[in-house]
Amino acid sequence: MPAYICVTCGVQFAASDRPPANCRICEDERQYVGYAGQQWVTQDQLSKTRVNRIELLEPNLYGIGSVPSFAIGQRALLMQSPHGNVLWDCMSLLDADTIARVNALGGISKIVISHPHFYATVADWAEAFDAPVYLHAADQAWLMRPHENIQFWEGDVLELQPGITIQRVGGHFDGCCVCHWADGAAYQGALLTGDSIYVVSDRRWVSFMHSFPNLIPLPASKVAAIAQAVERYKYSRLYSGWWQTVVDGDAAIVVQRSAQRYIAAITD
Ligand SMILES: [Zn+2]
Ligand SMILES: [Zn+2]
Repeated sequence: MPAYICVTCGVQFAASDRPPANCRICEDERQYVGYAGQQWVTQDQLSKTRVNRIELLEPNLYGIGSVPSFAIGQRALLMQSPHGNVLWDCMSLLDADTIARVNALGGISKIVISHPHFYATVADWAEAFDAPVYLHAADQAWLMRPHENIQFWEGDVLELQPGITIQRVGGHFDGCCVCHWADGAAYQGALLTGDSIYVVSDRRWVSFMHSFPNLIPLPASKVAAIAQAVERYKYSRLYSGWWQTVVDGDAAIVVQRSAQRYIAAITD
């Protein structure tokens, strides 16, 4: 039985004889059903139309995304670490070529995902690399394909391994997280954010939204809470969930001033 993948959001559902009737992720007000209606593919079909680009972004950090782009264009990040490689976020296509290339980089020992829009085909990745997956318990209802490797953590901070800390920030989803990588940016620290914190077109700024495609903002209290949750971390670079979305310097300052600008803009 195939495990169908939603074409619009890239999330894989539990195996079924026929495609699911609808996609709960896309029908949620934070997403949308595609213009051609609800469509599904399998991993096999996806591998016939796309390949994965794996690109070194800085020492010990690789981006992984499909070419041509699929679903919302998710780009995962692979951190190499002496304590075991960590995959931050996920994307849909996982073919034999990708598995071989990732294994050549040291494989994956843990998988952590910022929020449900990046759950993608995480069960396939967990199985292929025999890696545990850590998702925040607040978003448990949005997991469409449960797997024995997937565990839910609670609270605000997960010390994943030396140098890698997961911080819950909330906002876009209740369980939205970011990942602090102490060794990133030449030991100045990097923050990996999915779209919990989103790098906008002007890369001197970031933003925060309940829904990006439907332009629904967050209330001031939630934006302030995100800024406060990351205030204690040292980082100069910030990567959100797409290839071009990188703040290249002074990222901690950028996040704080962007939160202030946002709150001012929505406060009457
Ligand atoms: Zn969907
Ligand atoms: Zn999202």
